[in-house]
Order: sequence, then structure tokens, then C-alpha cells
Amino acid sequence: MSKSQYTLSCYFKLNPESFVKVSDQLEISLPCINCQRDHRTIIFENINEKGICTPRKKCEGFPGKLVSREIIKEADGVKVNYLIEFDYHKFTDLKYNAESNFKFGWARVYFTIKCSECQKEKTISTQENVGRPWDEKCECGNIIFQDYETPFKYQATEK
Ligand SMILES: [Zn+2]
Ligand SMILES: [Zn+2]
Repeated sequence: MSKSQYTLSCYFKLNPESFVKVSDQLEISLPCINCQRDHRTIIFENINEKGICTPRKKCEGFPGKLVSREIIKEADGVKVNYLIEFDYHKFTDLKYNAESNFKFGWARVYFTIKCSECQKEKTISTQENVGRPWDEKCECGNIIFQDYETPFKYQATEK
């Protein structure tokens, strides 16, 4: 058994002045040694809390935590880096009989944007395999976010 790290880097192309916050909750696909299933959707509700492996009734919990979240405002967007630490060793997926790996990258994040026209705030989400491009509009009709390409990059590191 070794401690592994997984980083998710997001880049949201938007006016950094309209970015309010990223939500605490992160949903991400990872292999789970507790239930011996690859590509589980793991939910992290807060930093330093154990992840929830879904479906919940099939697993006692994910053996790892979201240890940090870093937000960097840049000229034409906002970068968010998540770091997850967890116990991992290669295993054979119980259902598909294939060796676990990190080839499948999937995540969903929630973030809040303030409309530059009416100043109203709205929490929206984006995920890896949503149909792109799509626009998110404020109630006033102003487009507050345009999603052209996946904002995510994934990297696993075994220590
Ligand atoms: Zn599990
Ligand atoms: Zn508006």
C-alpha cells in the first residue's frame, strides 16, 4: 500500500472580477481500494474530510482526503488546483475484471459567478463530459459563463 496523490487543475476562462468563489464540494472519478472498483465517483464535501465513495451503500468510504485547494486569479481567468491524497495500490476491478488505472479523468466542480450587468450571483457547475460549447445566462439575460472546452487536467502521482 502506498500513499498516492491526484491533482485536478481547472482553468475557468472568465473575467476574474466576476468570479465569486468555488464551492467546497468536488466530485471526481478515482479508483477505490475499499470496494475494489475503478472509476468511482468520489465526493469530497470539505477540505480534510474523508471522501464519500458512491453509491454510498456499496462502500464504507474512500480512503483519502482532499488536502488542499488553491485559487489563482489570472488576467483572463481563474485557476483552481485541487490536491487529493489517498491510499492506493493496483487492483482488479471487481465488476470489469480489468486492472485499475488513472486513464479515465472525470470531475465536476461548482462555482459562483456575479453578473456584470445586474450584480446577481449564481452558482453553476461544469463537468468533464458535458456537451460543449454551452452558455450560462443570468436571469437578466446576460451571458455569465461560456464553456468552450474542458477546464480540467488530471495527474496521478504514486509516492
Ligand atoms: Zn469505494
Ligand atoms: Zn444579470
